[in-house]
Amino acid sequence: EDLLDVIIIGGGPIGIACAIEAQKRNLSYVVIEKGPLVNSLYHYPTNMTFFSSSEKLEIDQIPFISKNAKPSKAEALEYYRRIATSKKLDIHLFEKVNSVKKEENSYHIHTSKSDYTAKNVVIATGFYDIPNHMNVKGEDLPKVNHYYNDPHYYSNQDVIVVGASNSSVDAALEVYRKGGRVTMVVRGEGIGERVKYWVRPDIVNRIEEGSIKAYFNSTIKEIREHEVDIEDENGLKKTLKNDFVLALTGYRPNFKFLEEVGIQLQDKEKKIPQYDSQTMETNLKGVYLAGVICGGLETHKWFIENSRIHAKMIMENISCN
Ligand code: FAD
Repeated sequence: EDLLDVIIIGGGPIGIACAIEAQKRNLSYVVIEKGPLVNSLYHYPTNMTFFSSSEKLEIDQIPFISKNAKPSKAEALEYYRRIATSKKLDIHLFEKVNSVKKEENSYHIHTSKSDYTAKNVVIATGFYDIPNHMNVKGEDLPKVNHYYNDPHYYSNQDVIVVGASNSSVDAALEVYRKGGRVTMVVRGEGIGERVKYWVRPDIVNRIEEGSIKAYFNSTIKEIREHEVDIEDENGLKKTLKNDFVLALTGYRPNFKFLEEVGIQLQDKEKKIPQYDSQTMETNLKGVYLAGVICGGLETHKWFIENSRIHAKMIMENISCN
């Protein structure tokens, strides 16, 4: 096997940004992505609009032209794909990294298809693979989904949307507009703080007029084939007629993978992994973190706009070493 300068794990926007920076510095690199290119984005809801305006999603200052200020999913897929193809980035798709093991002066990377050795490793695996579970009976029923795609499927059905952040609010509004009967079950006392400011009045008004039902300070207790039990903060229980549950309760990085690689946590409660904020190097020499994975459980902390900078920091550090 050849000894590579760097292996980049994850072909999301930040993994792609890392590849560009490696290429610029003539570092030998390979990006390994377990799904299609920008796998996370590919699995976003079909009709989603980014909360960022398109220039904030740009990498390497390559203009991102979108029809409206905030781009659509289709436009973002087009953007990142064109960058990967025009720059001829070396990205291995549908190949999953299973382990990263330290050897004397390098790392051995074992994947679902091959083995590699590299002097440095960048982990840019994001957080979209692992949903936060509610840990209630019936959560594993096929009618429960932690990802939302398209509203048509839910037309004329009784749908519970769990959560009140952007994903939940977008799903609730879309499903309602395609004829689904939507009930939101929300742990907190209101619609999330970070809900897109131009969407918030829409959801608030739909709830106020009763087109979308909402139970705040409430959680799901049990899911059955045709019903769901919920409970409010006073212990008051209610049973709702139900066909589908969209449990959009957020996602978390793969902490097991990080632990197996040997990366320590700097904050145990928020599960923030250890890294040097100047170089992005972890407690393991030559292993770096890039992108939204850096936030641990605080998945809202990092996004494309403020983490695309990691690519340059890391590749500068690698090329000086
Ligand atoms: P990701 O894009 O998640 O990329 C990580 C990649 O690693 C994935 O493709 C995954 O398949 C791959 N991977 C994971 N494990 C392995 C493995 N073991 N082996 C190989 N590959 C692996 N951010 C913004 O800045 N603006 C927005 O408007 C915005 N809107 C969002 C809307 C939604 C619905 C969601 C869920 C997120 C949004 N975000 C937004 C956050 C956004 O997801 C991230 O900013 C962005 O995807 C992070 O890029 P990343 O490269 O760090 O991680």
